[in-house]
Amino acid sequence: MRIGILGGGQLGRMLALDGYPLGFQFRFLDPTLDAPVNQLAEHLVGAYDDIDMLHRFADGVDVVTYEFENVPVETVRILSQNVPVYPPPQALEAAQDRLVEKRFLQDLAIPTPPFVAVNTRTDLEAAIVQIGLPAVLKTRRLGYDGKGQYLIRQMADVERAWVALGITPLILEGFVSFTREVSILAVRGRDGTIICYPLVENEHRQGILWRSLAPAPHLSPELQAQAVDYATRVLDKLKYVGVLAIEFFQVVDAQQQFMLLANEMAPRVHNSGHWTIEGAETSQFENHVRAIAGLPLGDVAVRGCAAMLNLIGTLPDLSSMLAIPGTHVHLYGKAPRHGRKLGHVTLRADEPQTLTTMRQHVETLIDG
Ligand code: AMP
Repeated sequence: MRIGILGGGQLGRMLALDGYPLGFQFRFLDPTLDAPVNQLAEHLVGAYDDIDMLHRFADGVDVVTYEFENVPVETVRILSQNVPVYPPPQALEAAQDRLVEKRFLQDLAIPTPPFVAVNTRTDLEAAIVQIGLPAVLKTRRLGYDGKGQYLIRQMADVERAWVALGITPLILEGFVSFTREVSILAVRGRDGTIICYPLVENEHRQGILWRSLAPAPHLSPELQAQAVDYATRVLDKLKYVGVLAIEFFQVVDAQQQFMLLANEMAPRVHNSGHWTIEGAETSQFENHVRAIAGLPLGDVAVRGCAAMLNLIGTLPDLSSMLAIPGTHVHLYGKAPRHGRKLGHVTLRADEPQTLTTMRQHVETLIDG
């Protein structure tokens, strides 16, 4: 069976690496010549809206998936005339636009931060009156890793925020004083079976994911049940197939109970699930491949506990890191550049205390 993947970044690379043991072959379409998948799979270099290229890509492929959510919906529609594409186009549509996404979540009674659509400067003033400050102004489309957003703390920031972002449709969100950020990775098979990994705790640096801890420390069964319930609503509504990530803010409600506010979702494998390669019985990558291929989903049980640290911008000394038992290094074959995800390290231990000691050691190596 040959799987076609739109996008040839590190997520595609790890999908292939975990799909090969099951006997799958992979073909990628990505406009970048030196994309991370180039070293390990058939790679067509071309644009996602090049119809001839899409036909070449789909020829002889049994199923198509994608590894980034900004694939043009039209591309997926064209491909799905000839070959099954998972996750379905409606998942892309819901996730590509922050306003559509928040309304979709709201319709499913999943709590989100307060939000208002902003198209003009007058809308922005009105939205601030409605939501209050501080608030976060975000582009509706194409924002990632903290890009395309502006924190408005006081009225004096409004002009700067508008100059920075005002040329495109926007959304204003209330600023959430969260206890922490968590995310869930959920998988739905072709037969509708759903399984979920435990919530993980995520910490960002300059808007980029820096660290995930799995399972999220002090994770209560109630909080996990809340996340599973929300993920299940989304997956079933979209008739989803594959891995879906939902990022949440954990907050304290009026009754002093923890609750989750959905921030955003990604219809694909996700950085906060990289720990599953060594930290779970079945990785998110293998489970995505299993799901889209119509195979039974794999066990999501955690092996002890894990931490995942991203290697961003520059690479630390690898031999000192590899000398620490329980440390697993993944490099993506990308040239160093400021703010670029070049790889990640997963640490796995049986006990949380051991993990903390290892993590502190590795974090010191990464921070230099
Ligand atoms: P996003 O691209 O929406 O995931 O935002 C990137 C990061 O910015 C999040 O992971 C949060 O750390 C922070 N952030 C985004 N939106 C909000 C918000 N409404 N309130 C507080 N922090 C936010």
